Amino acid sequence: MPPQDHHSTASNDPQSPSKDAQLPDDRVVVWFDIDNTLYSASAKISQAMGTRIHAYFVSLGLDHDEASELHLRYYTLYGLALRGLTRHHDVDPLDFDRKCDGSLPLEEMIKYDPTLRKLFEDIDRTKARVWALTNAFRPHAERVLRILKLDDLVEGIVYCDYRVKDFVCKPEPEYYQMALRRVGISDPSKCYFVDDNRSNIDSARAEGWAKCIKQIDNEREPGAVDNDVIDIASLEELRNVWPEIFSNLS
Ligand SMILES: [Mg+2]
Repeated sequence: MPPQDHHSTASNDPQSPSKDAQLPDDRVVVWFDIDNTLYSASAKISQAMGTRIHAYFVSLGLDHDEASELHLRYYTLYGLALRGLTRHHDVDPLDFDRKCDGSLPLEEMIKYDPTLRKLFEDIDRTKARVWALTNAFRPHAERVLRILKLDDLVEGIVYCDYRVKDFVCKPEPEYYQMALRRVGISDPSKCYFVDDNRSNIDSARAEGWAKCIKQIDNEREPGAVDNDVIDIASLEELRNVWPEIFSNLS
């Protein structure tokens, strides 16, 4: 098991009141998107989410064409359909979350992959902290990490807080800035980031996040480099792309 002594709550430990305050944490932060990044797009979870979100738009009184059009427009405009729904319709985001992400039979759609757990275990925690950065709300994010047995290997989750009016999400710059505050660093060059969404990657790069990787879906050809962004077809490739964050022991 990896060391567990770098949780963000460590500074609250009365046994070591001044240690954290005096020693700056020089480790880099490795950010993983969750959906379609930690599991394959072939799990079809985004399609199942899409079906539920479409049904939600229809339940607002739209016909199917209007629902499809508006869903796409909000997703394109805001990065997340729910952002448009809360901004332009009287929608309770928690009701939306229950009916969309919350009703997905995730346990039947994705399964634990020991190779992925080993990859997370092999990240050298003396050099790198590991966080999740998702546009989902916390319950969905935690559920996916639990099913994948990664929950104990991720220090924390930066998620979209659906309870906050006009919450921010990727790819808005404010979301990345909030993420840095969450982990207590000010230098974006310490950030490594993997996401399957190109806009999310581009935004991170614009914010100065140093190392960004685009996880591609299985239905596309792996391209070596797309406008200076490295594409990977499997997270295993991170061992070669970012050797500096892995322990040499395994
Ligand atoms: Mg994703």
